[in-house]
Amino acid sequence: MPSAADPKKCSGCGTCADKCPENAIDMVDGMPVVNNVLCIECGVCVIICPCQARDIMEAIALMT
Ligand code: SF4
Ligand code: SF4
Repeated sequence: MPSAADPKKCSGCGTCADKCPENAIDMVDGMPVVNNVLCIECGVCVIICPCQARDIMEAIALMT
């Protein structure tokens, strides 16, 4: 589940929330929170994050 954004890297830009095709990400106190019910684990939020704040190994695991 690519729901964990590294708070040390995340800039709170909201790009992942904007690009999520399922609208599964809400910005809460400047940090993205994934709604696991809506998330289809497509990996888009991981790929588009400009700060590499999401776990890329999780993204690769999702693609394989
Ligand atoms: S993996 Fe896909 S559906 Fe899930 S939160 Fe990221 S962009 Fe949205
Ligand atoms: S795209 Fe990356 S840096 Fe921007 S809010 Fe999402 S996890 Fe944080």
